[in-house]
Amino acid sequence: MKKLLVDLEKLYSCEKPVAECSYYYRPGNDGITRLREIGQFIYICRKCEDAPCVNACPKEALEKQPDGTVKRYTMRCISCKSCSHACPFGAIPIETVPYITSQCDECIDRCDKDAPICSKTCSIEGAVKFVEVEESEKDDIYFMGKNVAVRAKPWKKYHP
Ligand code: SF4
Ligand code: SF4
Repeated sequence: MKKLLVDLEKLYSCEKPVAECSYYYRPGNDGITRLREIGQFIYICRKCEDAPCVNACPKEALEKQPDGTVKRYTMRCISCKSCSHACPFGAIPIETVPYITSQCDECIDRCDKDAPICSKTCSIEGAVKFVEVEESEKDDIYFMGKNVAVRAKPWKKYHP
């Protein structure tokens, strides 16, 4: 089955990747930025034990989850970008903490007819594709939900 393959490394290489989105409920929706945010907290974030991003947030909008990942509660976030500045690893690009958060419904019910429009319009060539894909540690490809896969070098903690 084909999935949306999002290359986080390529998206990180550009300050403001742009792609069209067919999410119905919000005109101007920026679905790839939402996907990027989810992926970056899972795969790019170093999962700091005493997370500077969480501590910097004035609205308690960031919370560490039991598995160590950080989640942003979008209804509390005021888009002040303090977390982005506090992260010592640059894991939170400022555009991924917008005031109005976009959504991605993974084009469920639409991508059996046609490839998602983001895969055809992304400003970074090859950053978003709609392809047959397998999970592969060797190729840095991991599934993220039913219809999405990401390519990223996941950060792993070194235990001496
Ligand atoms: S941008 Fe949002 S999540 Fe980040 S510090 Fe500000 S309020 Fe918190
Ligand atoms: S400060 Fe950066 S690397 Fe550390 S938990 Fe927060 S987002 Fe992740």
